[in-house]
Amino acid sequence: MQMDKYRECNLKDVRLEGFPSVKMTRFLTHRVLSEFAKTEIFAEARTPIELRNDDEGMPAGGMWRGEFWGKLMLSAARVADYTQDAELLDFIQKESHRLMTFQDPDGYLGSYTDKERVAFNEVTGKMMDENPSFGWHCLWNIWNRKYIMWAMLMVAKVTHDQDILDSVKRQMNQLIDMMHRQNIPLYITGNDQIMGVASMSLLKPLLMLYEETGIQKYLDYASEMIPYWDREDGKGPNFLRNAFNGKELWQWYPNASFWAKSYEMMSCLDGLLEYYRVTGEKRCLNAVAAIHENLAQSDMNPMWDVGFVDKFIGAAHYPNAATELCDTIHWIRLSYDLFLITGDNKYLDYMELAYFNAFMAGVYRDGSWTAFSIRAATRHEPNFQCNCAYNHCCVNNAPRTYMDMAAATISRDQEGTFQVNFYQDATATLDGVTFTIRGNYPVGDTVTVTVSSTDAKVRFRKPGWCPQMDVTQDGNVFTLHFDMAPRIVHRSTENIAADANDPNGWPYKRYQCVPMAPHDSVILNYRKTMAATMMRGPLVLARACRAGTKPEQLYSPDTVNGKPGLTLKLTPRPNEVCWGCWDAVILQNGKPLEAFPVCDFQSAADSMFGAPKGNTFSIWV
Ligand SMILES: [Zn+2]
Repeated sequence: MQMDKYRECNLKDVRLEGFPSVKMTRFLTHRVLSEFAKTEIFAEARTPIELRNDDEGMPAGGMWRGEFWGKLMLSAARVADYTQDAELLDFIQKESHRLMTFQDPDGYLGSYTDKERVAFNEVTGKMMDENPSFGWHCLWNIWNRKYIMWAMLMVAKVTHDQDILDSVKRQMNQLIDMMHRQNIPLYITGNDQIMGVASMSLLKPLLMLYEETGIQKYLDYASEMIPYWDREDGKGPNFLRNAFNGKELWQWYPNASFWAKSYEMMSCLDGLLEYYRVTGEKRCLNAVAAIHENLAQSDMNPMWDVGFVDKFIGAAHYPNAATELCDTIHWIRLSYDLFLITGDNKYLDYMELAYFNAFMAGVYRDGSWTAFSIRAATRHEPNFQCNCAYNHCCVNNAPRTYMDMAAATISRDQEGTFQVNFYQDATATLDGVTFTIRGNYPVGDTVTVTVSSTDAKVRFRKPGWCPQMDVTQDGNVFTLHFDMAPRIVHRSTENIAADANDPNGWPYKRYQCVPMAPHDSVILNYRKTMAATMMRGPLVLARACRAGTKPEQLYSPDTVNGKPGLTLKLTPRPNEVCWGCWDAVILQNGKPLEAFPVCDFQSAADSMFGAPKGNTFSIWV
């Protein structure tokens, strides 16, 4: 095993506090801790596994509802670890046992009646082409199983329940044995159009199960999978070779909107990092670091997530931006693992920027739901999937990001130095040393960090966006002042994607998610040209009804993008419904160009609908 550069906090030793924690608590309560969650939400997620009907009525392929239980339970296990709530700890154990009653004697536990239906062949692939579900080759049997196994493994780790761990082992054994018997490599299973990345993301929980049990069979199967991404014939995402080919990721193969499924790919990269941890195979780490950098350049959108809705199509080259919350969750996760392993603080910058912007904007302020797609203007896309009332792919994943951010608050390197990574109000204890962080960061620009031990060696992360961070010490209290550097962020107008404004193109349609009337404000405010954005510290700012921006100032096809000599002046503005609100003036060479109120991106529209005069907004200037 390779030692990470940094160790994280145990979840139970951290409390996230301050303004963001109010919404987080509401969200975790509604989605995981409440009686409603345990009965209604979990029951709906359990149904496809109980009825095994994800492949019902489909001559080939099948649905992905079977992922909902695993995603929700994965979140619940981590929230139980964080809260140590006795009732939730009891519930996750009982609910796992309830699911185990649906396990077949051979070990299969999933949502497909035809458990052997894992891949398309010539005949079934053709059937799918002729009668497509959702327009693509829908088949998620192994993906769904991955989430069930991973979630139950986490429950077993939190509750120390050996029966649950045994069930996971039998599930994994059945899967590996079945794949060997069918003689099908994992990379051709599932939706073949996305090059097997859904099924191949099994790698991470497979290795976690190896780490937990030491059973060689799991490491052997992982080692069988790795060469699928290092192929002479160049098929598949071929991460281990393509990582160093010098092309932007979306250019690896034609038609990225078809194959480059963002969070499934990032889930695979997480697996490669775990393989590095277990075996020390350096090229796995190097490939993932190179792909992360590739995405940060080619697919970063102005909400600081990667991707365009759910694909890597070179999002940096598009005038409009929309991003799937699952992608944000996994971008944060991937960045975090790279930080822990390498110790490079640039990964913390990516985490922080994605957390305060795309992620927080996607979690609704009433705590009931998350967006599926977060748009840069007008309104986010709530999305309902597979006729489910209480579950969709992102909302079930979302608690995990709060838990990742909690665990990442403080870390400690191998030499024993602590690093304060994030400055959201929090109380975190690591190795017996408690850090108390206060200051309403990043709306507030002065933070105090009280350290319980005067002997502890402590380092403070200087955010990459921050030109000046002053640290003063008075005994065990450190005062940090951040230059929040209000700024206009320009976007490159070179290499704008050719299909950016093609009304028949994938990005235009995908931005809408669902068909819309031509007069819908999402369509009316679709940008034809690149625009700049405004930032303060790590926060993207938005013109918004909630901030008090006048409706006629919300949207404009004009832009200040590329104009020289621009500065942004911000003055705090009282507001009861926004976290941060300011009167903004854009100046050119010191002369005012435009003035309007703005708020932090989260506050602009973290709720389900934005009527034309409701909570509508735009980050573009
Ligand atoms: Zn999602």
